[in-house]
Amino acid sequence: MKTLVLGSGAREHALVKALAQDPEVSAVIAVPGNPGIALEADVRPVDAGDGAAVVALAKELAADLVVIGPEAPLVAGVADALREAGIPVFGPGAEAARLEGSKAFAKEVMAAAGVPTAEAVAARTEEEAAAALDRFGAPYVVKADGLAAGKGVVVTEDREEALAHARSCLDGAPQVVIEAYLDGPEVSLFVLCDGRTAVPLAPAQDFKRIGEGDTGPNTGGMGAYSPLPWAPEGLVEEIVARVAQPTVDELARRGTPFTGVLYCGLALTSRGLKVVEFNVRFGDPETQAVLARLASPLAQVLLAAAQGRLDEVPPLQWRDEHAVTVVMAAEGYPASPRTGDPIAGLEEAAAMACLDVLHAGTASNAEGETVTAGGRVLSVVALGEDLAAARERAYAGTALIDWPGEQHRGDIAERAASGGIAVPPGYAGE
Ligand code: AMP
Repeated sequence: MKTLVLGSGAREHALVKALAQDPEVSAVIAVPGNPGIALEADVRPVDAGDGAAVVALAKELAADLVVIGPEAPLVAGVADALREAGIPVFGPGAEAARLEGSKAFAKEVMAAAGVPTAEAVAARTEEEAAAALDRFGAPYVVKADGLAAGKGVVVTEDREEALAHARSCLDGAPQVVIEAYLDGPEVSLFVLCDGRTAVPLAPAQDFKRIGEGDTGPNTGGMGAYSPLPWAPEGLVEEIVARVAQPTVDELARRGTPFTGVLYCGLALTSRGLKVVEFNVRFGDPETQAVLARLASPLAQVLLAAAQGRLDEVPPLQWRDEHAVTVVMAAEGYPASPRTGDPIAGLEEAAAMACLDVLHAGTASNAEGETVTAGGRVLSVVALGEDLAAARERAYAGTALIDWPGEQHRGDIAERAASGGIAVPPGYAGE
């Protein structure tokens, strides 16, 4: 099987590695890839958002499966173009991708499907936004309606800051979403869908804020771990039954069946399970932790999803180990990352057992050195017999790698490893 992966982040590096381990896979090609991906797959300098160019390449390669990593090509309809050309593709069409592309659309689908989520208002003017903020009260939650690479959401106690964000969102879009604050720990669950069947992967938790102790601005994600030792019994089954399957059924009913990953971002609140957000692709950095534990052949499973055959796939198998991902970012991230710094220690870290160094914002300079080329630069992913062991190994990896201004959080999975996360009283009460 020849598989073509679209994207250039650490998520795609993890996908490429997992696909290449499937015994049915003869070649993995990545578009446009990055210097780390280039060490284990062919990379082609094609624009992943250009449907016609991707179809032409998939035909030239005789690709058996195309896996779309990031949201932008999905929202741009690249999966539709591939499907129209008869090429099996793992990723939803543009209409179903609006679940991520528009928070207001996601809320509307959830309401129609009876999926539990935070109460929300789509405000079209500053006055409507102010009224909604006052109705829900602090902490205030203000969300840009379009794609914002995980950075369009502000959660704050400060009404002025909330209103200022609402104003700036309304500057470039017709509406902004204001919603009620959700307490309780968050869970990310990736659910593979083939248009009608929903198959969950293992749950994970990610760390969105730049600073330790969940402080500072939101980022694309600074780390993750999987599985969740604190998760209540039956959590995954509950999410599939109450969130994923009703959403898949609702989209099928509308004539826009969902094929790809439905990423369910949830809060386990004192009033039960609530959806925080949907994404329509694998999440970064959770994918790096989740796929490190997957023992089933990924390409065969994703091809079955692309072909509407998920009901034929045997139950997924997982390694017993725990996985921790630590993201190493450039100075100035998320506001204005500095680039061009040579990265030291990559070979030493690559030599460690049970540890992967996945590339995101990296490039090769004229001297052939690997240099920083983006905000999130690397994901260091470690396996261990428990979370504590996986953390220790991941941080031993990050300690070997360095560049000027490098930053990472030192507290990824720390509370979970020490038993410090609990579901709020009342969670099971719904
Ligand atoms: P989103 O892009 O919708 O996932 O939001 C990014 C992050 O903001 C989430 O992962 C949460 O940490 C936080 N967030 C979003 N919505 C809420 C909410 N209603 N209550 C509390 N935190 C939220």
